Order: sequence, then structure tokens, then C-alpha cells
Amino acid sequence: MPENTSAPTVKDEELTLEFVQLEEDTNLRVSGDDPKGCGACHFYSDAGADISYCWNGQLGIMVASDWLCDNWTEMGSSSLAMSDAQQAIAEKKWLRLVEGNEWRTEPRDGQQCSACLYFNSPDKAISYCWHPSLQVEVGHDHVCAHWEQSTEA
Ligand code: SF4
Ligand code: SF4
Repeated sequence: MPENTSAPTVKDEELTLEFVQLEEDTNLRVSGDDPKGCGACHFYSDAGADISYCWNGQLGIMVASDWLCDNWTEMGSSSLAMSDAQQAIAEKKWLRLVEGNEWRTEPRDGQQCSACLYFNSPDKAISYCWHPSLQVEVGHDHVCAHWEQSTEA
């Protein structure tokens, strides 16, 4: 794991509030027993991957295959197709997120997002990661290369 050279910095409160509002507006959650899930949604960019990009216009965020929101749309049931511009944005965002971040959708060496300094709401299953170079929605049991111990008890 690369050494973290970026010192903890100040949370962007405005951006954080926008993501919290997005979570509420879309009812973003773990799918649990619901047979639907992001991985089976029309807007999930990479079917078969554990995490991918949601290109729904209201979201445009990284999501996991076992998450779900109220905008779920069955694959093939929508005439909406990803435009070239949306494809370019998705690829750009995705490349920025995957390069060097060592994403995992399960804890690593006792480290997970819910115990990380940058996880906004430690009591939630999905929350916003405010790390300045990430700024994404992540799962409580996910982890990346930028993990730092939370200062909360
Ligand atoms: S629209 Fe909702 S259910 Fe579909 S991939 Fe995006 S976050 Fe998941
Ligand atoms: S994605 Fe990385 S930096 Fe963000 S909360 Fe999870 S472990 Fe921490």
C-alpha cells in the first residue's frame, strides 16, 4: 500500500452537504433482500463489476453492485442510451477514481471506510468520502489506499 503523503485537510462542507442531500433525495441504500440492485440497473456502467459508475443524470457517482436507489431502472426497459458525452465523463471519472486507489469492497487488514477519517457518517452503510482526491459515495465495509484512522471513538 502506498504511503499516504496527503495530510488530512479541511472537509468541503458545501460539497459534503450536496452529497448528503443526494443520498436522501435518491434513497441510496444497500439492496439487502431486494432482488434489484445497481448491478442490474440500466445506469450501471460495467455489468459484472463490484463497483462501477452510475450514469443516471441525477447521480453520476461511483456505486456498488449491491446498492440500490429509487431511480432503479431495469436493464433494457429504457430507451435512454448513454450519449458519447456521458460516456466520456464516465470514463474520465472512472479512471480518476481507480488509478492508484486500490479499491476493495471488503475490509483489508482491519481497515474499512466506516473507521476512516474521511467517511462522513460512520453510522451509515453508505456515506460520502470527503478525501479531497476522491469525493465519492462508498460503503462502510469498503476501503481504499488512502485509509486513515478516524479520530472518533
Ligand atoms: S440509478 Fe440508482 S439503482 Fe441505478 S445504478 Fe444508479 S444508483 Fe444504482
Ligand atoms: S474511500 Fe478510502 S479515504 Fe475514503 S473513507 Fe474509504 S478508506 Fe477512507
